[in-house]
Amino acid sequence: MSPTTNLSPSEDELRRALIALRADNPSLGIAKLHALLLSTHSAWAVSEKRTRKILQNEGLVLTSNRSTTRSTSDQSAASTDVKKFPLSALVEGLDISKWTSKIEVKYFDKIKGKGLVAKEKLSQGEVIWKEDHFVLAPEWEIYDLQKSSLACSFCSTPLQDSPIAISCPSSASSTGHTCPARFCNRLCLSRSGRTHPLLCPSQNPASVPLLRFARRTEWMALHALAQCTARLLLTYQQDESAWESDWKFVRSLAQLGMEERAKDEWMNGVEVDRETWKKGHQLFLQAFQEPAAAPEKKKLARLLKKPLGKEIADALFPYESFLLGLGRMNLNIEAHGGIYVLHSHLNHSCSPNVAIRHLDQRTALSRITVIAKQDIQPGEELCITYVNPDLPVDLRRRQIMEWGFGLCQCPRCIAEGSDSPDKAQKAVPTLDLGDLESELKAGLGML
Ligand SMILES: [Zn+2]
Ligand SMILES: [Zn+2]
Ligand SMILES: [Zn+2]
Repeated sequence: MSPTTNLSPSEDELRRALIALRADNPSLGIAKLHALLLSTHSAWAVSEKRTRKILQNEGLVLTSNRSTTRSTSDQSAASTDVKKFPLSALVEGLDISKWTSKIEVKYFDKIKGKGLVAKEKLSQGEVIWKEDHFVLAPEWEIYDLQKSSLACSFCSTPLQDSPIAISCPSSASSTGHTCPARFCNRLCLSRSGRTHPLLCPSQNPASVPLLRFARRTEWMALHALAQCTARLLLTYQQDESAWESDWKFVRSLAQLGMEERAKDEWMNGVEVDRETWKKGHQLFLQAFQEPAAAPEKKKLARLLKKPLGKEIADALFPYESFLLGLGRMNLNIEAHGGIYVLHSHLNHSCSPNVAIRHLDQRTALSRITVIAKQDIQPGEELCITYVNPDLPVDLRRRQIMEWGFGLCQCPRCIAEGSDSPDKAQKAVPTLDLGDLESELKAGLGML
């Protein structure tokens, strides 16, 4: 029988095959691993892009020799004092009473940073708080619905034939760029005023190439950074005190620059794609600072009348600031694609005591509900998990280390672990990872 070609394996089949190949070939780069996949599964039609994406999602983008992926100039750019841990800071003046009185923010120490602890006893199943997003970069299927006017461009709730849904007021523009955005109601429309104008194809056409690029590369952190930058730039124009608190919040987010992360000794030399980073940066500048064409420049200037101070511009636009911003998004993005003020304070444990749910699916999909998974005593820290809790201890620890958090010392890891960073570093998945749980914090790789 002649082999059938053009057979597209299911996501699960492909993932399993790649995990098995990676286990036997821990040091092959993506292209070689992809070639090996095609030679061992000759009937399969799989693009290298698909292989890359699965490897990135599974945290399997490794090479044995990191120096081969880094040019000399990149090496000189690498600072010698690598920040080993993501740094987070307290948000000055943050009042959490609008969300809940059951917990408080605590600063632990320089390495651990901030976290949330219970002020009173919390019972299993109890709702601790609900929270709307600071910015939202939803999963791409939902993003596509937004772009087809089928989901709210503010809160991402699918719009059926809602009689009160409202189109973007700038949708009927004469510029050639029409805006497909629709909103649940007046409230969602008005709240979208914090971000939408700068990302609206009609009001700021210079943002179109950036968002297209993020969509094409499925780069969620880039989309989140675009949303976040739009919010900062617009609140700066609109409301000084709102801007102050937004700015403080963003700068307090746990951060680990993309380069620092790639350099971390635990990364085993990740294949980073600096060409993609640079292209993203170029489009980012065109969208928010210096559009390529004069009519687009004029439109952007209409939205940003008040000049930015140098300090703010320096914190947003240079390449290093851009990479740092991506790192902030990567570390803090929730699985559905939002950044949330209080949620961003939650630390990791491999046996998390709280879970994140999107319960308001028909009214406010992006809203999160934080629920106690078990009874929690006063003074106890609230934790979510950043990795798949079903993984064995060495793999969980390796993934946590890849984020720069050091050897996970949660009670479960201490009970199960050999306490050997070496072993965790070398751990290579050999099992079917399955689908990540819904409370899994998104974002291995750059996606
Ligand atoms: Zn909405
Ligand atoms: Zn619009
Ligand atoms: Zn752990």
